[in-house]
Parts: sequence; structure tokens; C-alpha cells
Amino acid sequence: CGIFGIYSRQNNVALSTYWGLYALQHRGQESAGIAVTDGCHMDLQRGMGLVGEVFRQGIPGLKGHIAIGHVRYSTTGSSLLMNTQPLTVTYSGGNISLAHNGNLTNARELRAELEKKGSVFQTSIDSEVIVNLLARSGKKTLEDKVVESLSRIHGAYCLVIMTEDKLIGARDPHGFRPLCVGRLNGGWVIASESCALDTVGAEFVRDVAPGEMVVADDTGLHSYQISAGDKRALCVFEYIYFARPDSVIDGQSVYQARLAMGRQLAKESGYQADIVISVPDSGTTAALGFSHVSGIPFYEGLMKNRYIGRTFIQPEQKNRDLGVRIKLNAVESVVKGKSVVMVDDSIVRGTTSGKIVRMLKDAGATSVQMCVSSPPIGFPCFYGIDTSVRKELIAATKKTEEIRQFIGADALYYLSLEGLHKSIANIPPDTMCYACFNSEYPDQTPCGGDCGTNK
Ligand code: SF4
Repeated sequence: CGIFGIYSRQNNVALSTYWGLYALQHRGQESAGIAVTDGCHMDLQRGMGLVGEVFRQGIPGLKGHIAIGHVRYSTTGSSLLMNTQPLTVTYSGGNISLAHNGNLTNARELRAELEKKGSVFQTSIDSEVIVNLLARSGKKTLEDKVVESLSRIHGAYCLVIMTEDKLIGARDPHGFRPLCVGRLNGGWVIASESCALDTVGAEFVRDVAPGEMVVADDTGLHSYQISAGDKRALCVFEYIYFARPDSVIDGQSVYQARLAMGRQLAKESGYQADIVISVPDSGTTAALGFSHVSGIPFYEGLMKNRYIGRTFIQPEQKNRDLGVRIKLNAVESVVKGKSVVMVDDSIVRGTTSGKIVRMLKDAGATSVQMCVSSPPIGFPCFYGIDTSVRKELIAATKKTEEIRQFIGADALYYLSLEGLHKSIANIPPDTMCYACFNSEYPDQTPCGGDCGTNK
């Protein structure tokens, strides 16, 4: 998911949030929503689909000085209107609105506990647990309510929370997902990625630290370190696939990391071919890196229809199958009669890769060697990336040679874990999560044995 928040008396906060969500659209395409307050009322507009679809009629009625927004990519709870965010509730202390990126690992237990105490849940998403904890907190100040609530939840979360007079941002103690702060016309912006700050014209100030809560109000921006000492564990997939290449996360440019992954792939694989192509868009930067080191020219051998959602992040397998065919097409004039190195960022289930290889061969490619800019994904994610069912992961049950046969490629090479570490040069490997490659989960997993690690 992508989250965005703004506190500003100088800007049209609803409009800034709209453009901020546009910049974060790659983080979720199932639903979008914006909540705004003018200090007295809270307005909420949300719906299913892309930002442009949900706000097709513009953003009428949403006026104020604080706004938060959300684009959704479902990992818990179905892709339904009731599960869209921000979530807004009225409780004894006033109104509160919340948007969440991540996945809580103890939501089921907390939900059962809250239901026993009389909470009634309106949605099937884990984020509602946080709203209920906040509304039920006996603490006096909002800040204390948030601190108390966050001490109860485990897993991955970046949050923006809005009341009538405050905007709060918080990042979980491991820092699984990114969150940064920017300055705009004397106001404050909090966003999942720096590309959203750039889009609204905000100046990047800094990343929110793991375990930190920042509070923006009329007196400025205040920081509270609410937990410390947990192992830092930024998700490596932000660099491989999820984040936009023009974002900088925790001091590491996503673009430079992807370029380095491609260079490393060229060195490690040693593959030779007539041309290098990418699976657009997330494989393109790595393919350029591959081309620079190998000397093999880069061409656009696959064309993407940019007007439909990313296949990996749609919730149903059925949608994924249909998505590949309508999303990508081979450029026959580029690949016909050529041996091809094709670079992609990952192989999750293998079905998409198989279809693309076939597409290239049907268009006349003489051979397709596939290079993947990540190691095999053998273990599920419990922190907000949709790979939580181990049996769906092709590398959980098949060896590389079997996967090569399954996708019909002439060769298949995965980037080594060491190569991946090297590519993300600004961040020490032991401060990141690589669990879907090595099963070293930084937090307790709720898998009940499903993840294959006995943890
Ligand atoms: Fe990211 Fe994998 Fe860790 Fe999930 S398990 S947070 S996808 S590195």
C-alpha cells in the first residue's frame, strides 16, 4: 500500500494528497481514499480502483488543513469497498482517521480480544485493529494513545493518523516499510516514498526512523522515539520491485540499487546474446545495468500497456492470468531472429514468466535466457507483500533447473544473495529483511508451520 499525509494551512491539502497518491499508485491499485479535516469536520471519499478512477469527478467537498490518503494492495482482507482506507471513526475523544501500509502479525489475536470487550468490526482488514485500540485507549493525549496502541501490535506498519488538529506518522520498530517526511510551504508532508514528496513539490527532510512517531501540528513537527533496539529490517523487495526507481529510501537510491543488481547479474551469469531486454517496467533498470557491463545492447523487446494494473499485485490468480496477455506484447521487429537475455525482477509463481518466454519465442526469438535480479523466493512474506502462501511460490518446491523447464527458457540465472547485498551498497545487509530468500524472519511469524521454517 501507499500512504500520504499533509498538514498545511497554505495548501489545498486534498489536492496535494490526490497528487501524492498518484505518485504512489504503483504501491496499490485496488482502491484509493482521501480523508480531510478542517478542524471541525472530517470528510472522507474513497472507492475501488485507481486514484484517477476513484476521484474521476474531482475531490469536491474535501477542504481543510490536514489530509491523509491511501492506495491499497491487499494482503489481508478481500479487495472490497468496505476494506478501503483511510478508516475513519468517531469515538469519545472526537474523530480519528488512519491509513496503514504493512501487515500486522498478531491482528487475529488482538481482534478476538477486542471483540470480547465489545468492539464491533466493520471490515476484514488488520488496520481496523489499530483504530479500535486507539479508540479504546484510556490514555489522555493522542500521542499517548498512539504509543499505547502501537505497543500492542506486531509486524509491519507505517501509519498516517489524523485528528482534527494533528497529523501523526509512525513506522514500526523494524522499519519494514519506508516512510519519509518533507516540508511544503511551512507545512509538513509524510509519505511512503520520496517520489510523492517530489510530485507535490515538497522538500525531502528525512526518513522516519524505525520505532519513531512524528507529530505535526500548528507548533511544528515533534519526534518521539517510541521503541528502539529491535533489529532493523527494511524489506529488500522495496529495492527489487516495489518502490519507484526515483525514490530514495533510508539513504539508498532505488534506481542505483536496481542498476547495480543488473551489473552484478551480468558479471555472475556471464550470459551472452544478441540483445538484452527487460520485462517492463520494474526489470528495466536492472536490464540497463546488465547491458552496461556485458556490452550487449539494450532494446525494448516487450511493450507494456501502461493503463492497467501491475499483474503481481492483483488479488486473484484469475486476474493475473488475464493481466499478462493484455498487459505485455513482444516487439517482433526487435526480437525476431535474435538470441535474447531477458531481465526480470523476480519469479513468484512462474506462470507470468512462462507466458512471456512463450510470447518472445512466438515472435521469433531464437533463444531466451532469463536473468532474475533477485534470488529464488522460497519463503512467504508476512509483512505486506503478497507472497504469503508458500505452496504458490515456485522456488519453494522446485529447483532452478525445474523452474527453467517450467517457464520454457533456454537458461535461467538468479542473482546471488551476496550479489544482492552488494547492490544495495548504502545499507548493511544485517539491517534489512531478506526472509523470503533465507527464512531469517526478524519477527515472530504467524504461519502455524506454513512458512516451512518451523518458526
Ligand atoms: Fe520483504 Fe521478503 Fe521480508 Fe517480506 S519476507 S518483508 S517481502 S524481504
